[in-house]
Amino acid sequence: MKDRVLIVGAGPVGSITALALLQAGIPVTIFEALAETPTAHRAATTHSSTLDALESVGIADEVVKQGLVARYFQYRHRETNEIFAEFDFDRLKDETHHPYAVQLEQHKTVGIALDRNAAFADFGLHRGHRAVEMSQDDSGVVLVTETPDGTRHDWRGRYLIGCDGGRSFARKASGIDFPGFTWEEKFMIVATLFDFEAADHFRYRNYIADAQRWSSVFKIPGPDSKGMWRTLFPIMADETEQDVTSDQWIHDRFAEILPYAKDTKIVHRNLYNVHQRVAASFRAGRVFLAGDAAHVNNPLGGMGMNSGIQDGLTLAAKIVKVWRGEGDDALFDLYDRQRRPLAEKYVQAQSIQNKQTLQNTDKAAAMKRFDELRQIAEDPKRHKPFLMNASLINMARESAAIG
Ligand SMILES: Cc1cc2nc3c(=O)[nH]c(=O)nc-3n(C[C@H](O)[C@H](O)[C@H](O)COP(=O)(O)OP(=O)(O)OC[C@H]3O[C@@H](n4cnc5c(N)ncnc54)[C@H](O)[C@@H]3O)c2cc1C
Repeated sequence: MKDRVLIVGAGPVGSITALALLQAGIPVTIFEALAETPTAHRAATTHSSTLDALESVGIADEVVKQGLVARYFQYRHRETNEIFAEFDFDRLKDETHHPYAVQLEQHKTVGIALDRNAAFADFGLHRGHRAVEMSQDDSGVVLVTETPDGTRHDWRGRYLIGCDGGRSFARKASGIDFPGFTWEEKFMIVATLFDFEAADHFRYRNYIADAQRWSSVFKIPGPDSKGMWRTLFPIMADETEQDVTSDQWIHDRFAEILPYAKDTKIVHRNLYNVHQRVAASFRAGRVFLAGDAAHVNNPLGGMGMNSGIQDGLTLAAKIVKVWRGEGDDALFDLYDRQRRPLAEKYVQAQSIQNKQTLQNTDKAAAMKRFDELRQIAEDPKRHKPFLMNASLINMARESAAIG
């Protein structure tokens, strides 16, 4: 059991990082607290830079096949319903094999990766195992997991990767700080079968700007792959959880923000806290952090899972080299240098700016930003560079260039 990589967390980052390691011949065991992958609405957008990276582990085609190809995204002004900017990922066709985003629920991406992992004899997935203790020495890491009946189990591996989400046990047990902040308002996600595209020229990815009642509207395949629409609403400070999860509150939001949506049947609702944080280090000796364990951000722009998968694949490449004797420990510091500063520069900066664009309370500044986005969308010289950031292609390239 010793000579393997231990991964805590079977989310998108843990399951895909495991796949890259297994394909290189490295044994992997994942420990997952939950009995099943949750289907709650979280990531849906997979960007072109991530699809290109998923090609390296052979699952990009399956993600595209199961998902919805989203070539465009648009911005609207809530008061006027004017579409003030629309972007076309096809402008990236010389830069990526996937000049579009793909809308696919993250639990389906996890399912694709775990199915592939299961084909490897050296893969283990222990569900119902919550990581509770961890220590390391010069030769490896010892992990203790606990099953629901209270039994504790000891495991040993050469390295451990914490892919265990925003509240990461691996991060806390390594004593790594998680500086940043939590937004005052929560986000409410509501899924409906109402067809926004047919009703009012919506694309598969849409942002609606308003100082108070901004929103986003996204299409996802849904459980039967026939299509479902996911809307996001901010919750005001004086609104209680009981208020905002009521049918009445949700129907009021539809009436106010998305009046073209009539008779919306609510098929799912979920309330989220939203944070902007980056771990002080992505490495503590033989323990590494990737994905939400390393950084969290608001979902506007769809960058958390994307940058997390790219962390995991970057780290896996380093572990493979060291495992084969083609590199040394310095590669692990390089992982931190390649991913941590760029999580701040791209993911944090862009997701915060995306939120400010949608909810600017200074009307003059808001109109200026809308005008700027309109000009960027209309100017071929600026349209493509904007998408190079939005698709995280610039981040992936800058990361790869750091030596
Ligand atoms: C509403 C919403 C919409 C989003 N939309 C997008 C989007 O469109 N695009 C995008 O890129 N990102 C998006 N995100 C962010 C995205 O969901 C996360 O970045 C992504 O889930 C991170 O993946 P992960 O594998 O790092 O962590 P997680 O998905 O959180 O998985 C962590 C796993 O670790 C397990 N775990 C935790 N602690 C332990 C423990 N002690 N022992 C064992 N197992 C443990 C958990 O059960 C879980 O299965 C969105 C988030 C939200 C909330």
